[in-house]
Amino acid sequence: HPERVFNFSAGPATMPESVLREVQDEMLCYPGAGASIMEISHRDKLFVDVLHDAESTIRELLKISDDYSVMFMQGGATLQFSAIPANLLRGSGKRAQYIQTGSWGKKAVKEAKKEGDVDLLYDAAESNYDHVPSASDLACPDDAAYMYYCSNETIQGVQFQSEPNCPDSVPLVSDASSDFLCRPLPIEKYGLLYACAQKNAGPAGVSVVIMRKDLLEKADPNIPGYLHFKNHHDNDSEWNTPPTFAIYVLGKVARWLRDDMGGLEKMESINREKSQQLYSVIDSSNGFYRGHAQTDCRSLMNVTFNLPSDDLTAKFISEAGEHKLAALKGHRSVGGIRASIYNAMPREGVNALASFMNDFASKNS
Ligand code: PMP
Repeated sequence: HPERVFNFSAGPATMPESVLREVQDEMLCYPGAGASIMEISHRDKLFVDVLHDAESTIRELLKISDDYSVMFMQGGATLQFSAIPANLLRGSGKRAQYIQTGSWGKKAVKEAKKEGDVDLLYDAAESNYDHVPSASDLACPDDAAYMYYCSNETIQGVQFQSEPNCPDSVPLVSDASSDFLCRPLPIEKYGLLYACAQKNAGPAGVSVVIMRKDLLEKADPNIPGYLHFKNHHDNDSEWNTPPTFAIYVLGKVARWLRDDMGGLEKMESINREKSQQLYSVIDSSNGFYRGHAQTDCRSLMNVTFNLPSDDLTAKFISEAGEHKLAALKGHRSVGGIRASIYNAMPREGVNALASFMNDFASKNS
């Protein structure tokens, strides 16, 4: 489409164009339904098949065993800030351990405190969230309710390169909203991992929750029904009406990742190349661009950096727009620029941004 831009939005974010076209083709009539997928019952076999296919494609991509439940929920990642402590902390007599490496971890802590006792195992606030802890910074007690972290802080562009050390007796919980499906993961290390879809996995409206099945039994059944993971698991994500259209599109994105991109190993190496291309421009700009994240925890997904002044930042954003490079403004807490380059951002978009950045630096430094 002539008006389509390279969209660097942090989420909702750019989608694979082929998926949008498939959705367009099936919009009026989903094959066999005589209606749009959004017009049929969630109990209709055609939709139940769509849901199962989305689940099995995610299981295949991440090699998820039967020890884990894969659930689709509404309420965004934000609902999980409450659902997780409601299920795993409330009434447990234990304390939850939170690692705070950015804005989303901080919000999760605030909600968890309403459900029970929370300790900040690590807080990177003093350096304005530009890094993740090293293994020696973390001493999680063996009897914690769980240990929680956010694998990729979307606003700061800070990403864990691997799972933080967690005692075997403690479930590891991750908010993977902004780096879900960007690389393979050792799922067996996790008690629970969740992600809202609207960054790397589909449209807004659905979140994926991957949870070790034994943990489903932990919650007090008197917590609000929608928050109770067991309800979603026992009813195959149809405890109530699920977000059918969002699940349908998410399934297509998962298939695109498997069939067109070749799976998560390949996707990771493409993501490394794409992000490295932008970080190299930053590093070779003689200080014109300054990356926010420390180099050993730079995000594959959200590249955050500052320019020498607010005026230059505004000029950068406006001139980038003339080159069809959109949604580059950083979050106000970090300032500067954030280029979100999720799986669906084509290499051409990253090439175009890298050469714009080089040009802009040479004209303005
Ligand atoms: N966690 C992370 C890492 C996020 O990036 C976001 C969304 N920007 C959220 C949580 C909150 O997601 P939602 O808006 O779906 O509640």
